[in-house]
Amino acid sequence: MTEKPFAAVANRSAQRWDEELGNICVYINAELCKACGYCSHVCPKEIIQLSAETNSKGYHYALVRDIGKCTGCRFCAIICPEVAIEMEIVNRATAQLEG
Ligand code: SF4
Ligand code: SF4
Repeated sequence: MTEKPFAAVANRSAQRWDEELGNICVYINAELCKACGYCSHVCPKEIIQLSAETNSKGYHYALVRDIGKCTGCRFCAIICPEVAIEMEIVNRATAQLEG
């Protein structure tokens, strides 16, 4: 089976952050996910869903469906009992300096 270490990589600018800070990246590690659905329940924008596909353990892992609506609140990352969600907010000014 093909490994999917980060099957749910989302990296697109939410308008607010894009204008003021930079890009929001939400990474959900599909192999760590146990499909509890907590992240989906707490997301105020309702943009996290469970995939139709399963990971190697048979769980329908979580996916971010529309990163453009993400506010960067981090509720999903905080509540995940498997620590499967990581977030990164890339400061545009810093990225330009490093780039
Ligand atoms: S950071 Fe907030 S808005 Fe973005 S996906 Fe997670 S819970 Fe939803
Ligand atoms: S809270 Fe974590 S373990 Fe539960 S569905 Fe979301 S990513 Fe998977």
